Amino acid sequence: MSIKNNIQRIKLTIPEGVKYVVVSKYRPIEQLQQAYDAGMRIFAENRPAELAAKVEALPKDIQWHFIGHLQTNKLKMVLPYCSLIQSVDSIHLMEAMERFCSQHSLNANILVEVHIGAEVTKQGFSPEETVELFSKRCHETFPHLTFCGLMGMASHTDDPVRIEEDFALIKQIFDTIRELHPELTSFTELSIGMSHDYMLALKHGATMVRIGSMTFE
Ligand SMILES: *Cc1c(COP(=O)(O)O)cnc(C)c1O
Repeated sequence: MSIKNNIQRIKLTIPEGVKYVVVSKYRPIEQLQQAYDAGMRIFAENRPAELAAKVEALPKDIQWHFIGHLQTNKLKMVLPYCSLIQSVDSIHLMEAMERFCSQHSLNANILVEVHIGAEVTKQGFSPEETVELFSKRCHETFPHLTFCGLMGMASHTDDPVRIEEDFALIKQIFDTIRELHPELTSFTELSIGMSHDYMLALKHGATMVRIGSMTFE
């Protein structure tokens, strides 16, 4: 199957209004160009140097998202080029981003990364911490950051029941924050679902799915 075929097939399964983000990390430029030629305009990377090289090489109307752990000393390689940072996983990072953006007259659109499931290595905020961020009014503390929603991953398992429980929990946190904070008018995106589980994520309110391997393989 070609990349174009993969994309056409995946698109048929994604409802109108849900964004299909092409996760292009580790893929060569030629493959991104093929996805671009097939009509895709949102690409996601997880390493600053690789992002910078691809931004340079590819058409300028691509919207780049960042989905990896972002170190505060790499902000200048990432923030000027990305329309959305999906993986904001600590207050320390928010503080550094706020400082950088205010110094460079930038605004950063961000998703808060929610950590569910048991894996200890996962980055991000627990469900309780996520709700607490907004009750402590992070959206006022960081005026150069626009809080656009949540990003999360389901537990690493083949059990669809467990995966759905995880997505349902993230959706519940998302709805809770929206109910408690109607002033957050930009808080509209729920980025859940990857190649193996995006169909389940769609059942639980995904507004954005991040699809890498199924796009390219
Ligand atoms: C790699 C990655 C994806 C895409 O995973 P696939 O299984 O290749 O679709 C999605 N989200 C994040 C955060 C990733 O790092």
